[in-house]
Amino acid sequence: SFPADQVPQAPEDPLFFLMRTYRADESPNKVDLGIGAYRDDDAKPWVLPVVKKSTYDSAPPASADEVLRSDPNLNHEYLPIAGLASFTSKAAELILGSDSPALAEERTTSFQTISGTGAVHLGAAFLAKFYRGNRTVYLPDPTWANHKQIFGNVGIPSATYPYFDKSTKGLDFEGMKAALSAAPEASIILLHPCAHNPTGVDPTLDQWKELADLVKQKKHFPFFDCAYQGFASGDLDKDAAAIRYFVAQGFEMLIAQSFAKNFGLYGERAGCFHAVTAPHADATSTIGRISSQLAIVQRSEISNPPIYGARVASTVLNDVALFSEWTENLKTMSGRIIAMRKDLREKLEALGTPGTWNHITDQIGMFSYTGLSEEQVLKLRSDAHIYMTKNGRISMAGLNTKNVNYVAKAFDKVNG
Ligand code: PLP
Repeated sequence: SFPADQVPQAPEDPLFFLMRTYRADESPNKVDLGIGAYRDDDAKPWVLPVVKKSTYDSAPPASADEVLRSDPNLNHEYLPIAGLASFTSKAAELILGSDSPALAEERTTSFQTISGTGAVHLGAAFLAKFYRGNRTVYLPDPTWANHKQIFGNVGIPSATYPYFDKSTKGLDFEGMKAALSAAPEASIILLHPCAHNPTGVDPTLDQWKELADLVKQKKHFPFFDCAYQGFASGDLDKDAAAIRYFVAQGFEMLIAQSFAKNFGLYGERAGCFHAVTAPHADATSTIGRISSQLAIVQRSEISNPPIYGARVASTVLNDVALFSEWTENLKTMSGRIIAMRKDLREKLEALGTPGTWNHITDQIGMFSYTGLSEEQVLKLRSDAHIYMTKNGRISMAGLNTKNVNYVAKAFDKVNG
């Protein structure tokens, strides 16, 4: 019989709990600074105009199915195990650069995944089967809340390296380097290439260069998790600079790539996983073997990935005019977020709120690590109906011209 009494209750996911509590709050003033999804100036989800165009032409149809049926050549057949090739090949160019030596030398393989989460998981599952170095993944402290359990679920234990300096609210670069030096050789190092979640703090390109030297010296294995390309700076190339630098240095590496945020395709689960081998004589045969094993993992877990989000992204990535429009949409999102950072900082400074607030504009991407304590976070929730995660992380996209004043005043009150 099923050992029901041996299955303990697991805690609810804190972020999804937060979302649920926010939805249930009936206050007209409530503000959602929790979830990492873009909102427009009216606090509404934003379907990117380019996405609307590539799928709906003009009037939005009732369902995705209607879109598919409107084209007589579209059908609901299975994708191949590795996903939609017109999508994965462009996704690889997007992250590695279309002139990447790794692409020219055919030492990459790409698999479409269940968004960024699925890409991290596919990489973790692959490492669990084949990695022969130090089978521990080093995660930044703090990191995206899901990393530890994704690796843990496939039997890869995690350790952490310092990342955030509480006093400067910036990067703890010395601490990070010291920990990566002290880690056993050939450890797996998880890196956020841009718009670090949850802190919004990124290394500079010069710091990335130092990190690359250190990773090489220690024979560590880099695994980049990229969930915000183009969303951080507004510039797709700039946000991929760290990854491209590592590729140029000849690293063997894994890359998880999400299209949730930069295409606003959150629920469609469009993502991609890439493996890159080092440049040497039989690199193409190595990647062929890696690819064959990835296909087994993918087949056993999802058989083949979902088609709709990949079709949307592929339509945009393969069309010069739509691609150019997409880069404008990215600037709209990143630009609004940067404007909100400026506004919040100015308002807090004008109120004379204790502490320094330059970190709000120094940090980049979806999130800011405010430095608010858990006690202050809970007080903001109960007194002002402002929702954020307990670590004081705010989703900048939850701010808009209508609520930023209210939020600044509430922050000022709990800081006073
Ligand atoms: N990795 C990081 C660092 C993230 O912040 C996120 C989303 O918040 C993801 C991966 C995965 O997101 P998704 O599975 O929605 O693409």
